[in-house]
Amino acid sequence: MNTSFKNLLNTYDWEDTLASINTKTTEDVVLALSKNKRDLEDFKALVSPAAKPYLEQMAQLSSRITKKRFGNTIQMYVPMYLSNECQNICTYCGFSMTNKIPRRTLTDAEILKEVRFLKAKGYNHILLVTGEANKTVGVPYIKNAMELIKNQFSNITIEVQPLDQEDYETLIEANLYAVLVYQETYNRAEYKKHHPKGKKSNFDYRLETPDRLGRAGIHKIGIGALFGLENWRGDSFFTALHLKYLQKTYWKTKYSISFPRLRPHSGGLEPKVEMTDRDLVQAICAFRLLDEDVELSMSTRESETFRNHIVNLGVTSLSAESKTNPGGYVVEPQSLEQFEISDERSTEVIAKMLQDNGLEPVWKDWEHNWQ
Ligand code: SF4
Repeated sequence: MNTSFKNLLNTYDWEDTLASINTKTTEDVVLALSKNKRDLEDFKALVSPAAKPYLEQMAQLSSRITKKRFGNTIQMYVPMYLSNECQNICTYCGFSMTNKIPRRTLTDAEILKEVRFLKAKGYNHILLVTGEANKTVGVPYIKNAMELIKNQFSNITIEVQPLDQEDYETLIEANLYAVLVYQETYNRAEYKKHHPKGKKSNFDYRLETPDRLGRAGIHKIGIGALFGLENWRGDSFFTALHLKYLQKTYWKTKYSISFPRLRPHSGGLEPKVEMTDRDLVQAICAFRLLDEDVELSMSTRESETFRNHIVNLGVTSLSAESKTNPGGYVVEPQSLEQFEISDERSTEVIAKMLQDNGLEPVWKDWEHNWQ
């Protein structure tokens, strides 16, 4: 029988886990900070309320460890939204099926037009994003888009509907580098409330996506939770548990973590649980202290001020100038976004900000022809 994270998650109780995090003590935090190698109990201490007074120490340590492993570099990537068609209802998303917005899916010519703009900006790593609409943006559409642009990018990542293992194998053969699939929340009951309809309402199928990707032999998998749907300490812990399980099971694959917080969109949902800037810094540093190798990614959802600070505290990859609507760069800039971005600075301004912080923006670190 194939192994699966579902079996491991089923051995945990959400409330017990939260209680265990919330009862961590100052001593647990001090012990976690003093270790060279930290485990999941240490991670609980680092995301606990008891660690709040130690944020500065955590940030300094996180910064040091990140520079040791990644140097003074930040990987640059850019998302390109191919379609806003979606057959799911997600309470927090502008593309949700019941939202009355004009739907559009980019044609080949439109994709190439958007690509020309992004290439001129210097991007070499691209993230292709679609909603979940099997008929319009299924595997043939994604494969075609990849083939269309593969000579122009050294690294293609996708964030699309979860697929079967065979589909991933097909796309990997077509030079797919990485897949991002966020669980949104690891709390099963809360997940159901936010995904009442569509394929995405199947919690287990989504949860087991990284397992299917690992078995398909993908180079990199990105996971994460959408902070704001549930208690961020709980979702951070289960993301860490997922990471450790995946690393042990599919050890040839690389991993990245993202930290999306709920953002306004058309039809907006207020976060159930507020995650402050300090909380987000705590979560990011806790992941770095748990794992020296994992890539930590920061999108333009966050504000200029936040991103200016976090680039030196543990993150390793950054997007810039992102548009979250299909054709948003040149084809149809006015179409409706999936969510509002916060940091609207141009690629050039972000690159300069990194250099001013003593960091080198890296546009290319992967060449698929040399695999
Ligand atoms: S989050 Fe994804 S699946 Fe859900 S409505 Fe938005 S595009 Fe569709």
